[in-house]
Amino acid sequence: MIYIGSHISSSGGYEAMCKNAQSLDADTFAFFTRNPRGGAAKDISEEDVKRFLERTAKLQFGPIVAHAPYTMNLCSSKPETREFGIKMLADDLARMEYTPGNYYNFHPGSHTGQGTEKGIALITDALNRTLTADMHTTVLLETMAGKGSEVGGTFEELRAVIDGVILKEKIGVCFDTCHTWDSGYDIVGDPDSVLQKFDDIVGIDRLCAIHINDSKNSIGSHKDRHERIGFGMIGEEAMKRLVQHPLLQGKPFILETPNDDAGYRREISLIRSWMI
Ligand code: FE
Ligand code: FE
Ligand code: ZN
Repeated sequence: MIYIGSHISSSGGYEAMCKNAQSLDADTFAFFTRNPRGGAAKDISEEDVKRFLERTAKLQFGPIVAHAPYTMNLCSSKPETREFGIKMLADDLARMEYTPGNYYNFHPGSHTGQGTEKGIALITDALNRTLTADMHTTVLLETMAGKGSEVGGTFEELRAVIDGVILKEKIGVCFDTCHTWDSGYDIVGDPDSVLQKFDDIVGIDRLCAIHINDSKNSIGSHKDRHERIGFGMIGEEAMKRLVQHPLLQGKPFILETPNDDAGYRREISLIRSWMI
């Protein structure tokens, strides 16, 4: 058994997100903590959060996976961009404390010409400045497609980031199937070996959530263009094997496919039909 959901608009607040997810027959969801392009986050209503917590507990939702804005780049060559990112991260983590025990997922960043090693050092520094021992959120590094100067396109790079973090127990990984495929891991031909490699390098217990997306492009393309389930180069059979994979049971699977609500509802029902 896995949890399944999609990205949901956060504009109506927490309880509305849960209702929206329910209407899709989801039992988890992802949302942007603020506009994906950045900017200020909305005020949190404690009443709304209380109703949300009651509702998700009653419905036995799995952990939810909040997504950081794309503008957050902790390893930019521009100090003001890094500082802006750290501020957003700290603010988002403070807000996540209203809904303890969930995941906050972010793109490790793009080193914008400084080199991967420098990028990794800047990311770990940012995390060491913001993670706290008393927080109740696990922060997830997303596996990336390795587009441009992205850090996190290989399991080794994710491992190197984790190695630099002091509070390692607060860190996990979100495995994005489109990104992993685009970065060159053959989740179609040999998913067992990919997960084995992940275990060897990162440790399978760090794998907390899955972004389940098909890809418009072929393996190793480093493109990062998501496709609807079954309409891309990964295909339905490979997706089904991941949904059924013994190492991925009990985890939240999040759809980030180009869809409207009806499309998400169809994909959620398709994935439910594969669940074991
Ligand atoms: Fe992402
Ligand atoms: Fe993703
Ligand atoms: Zn992507």
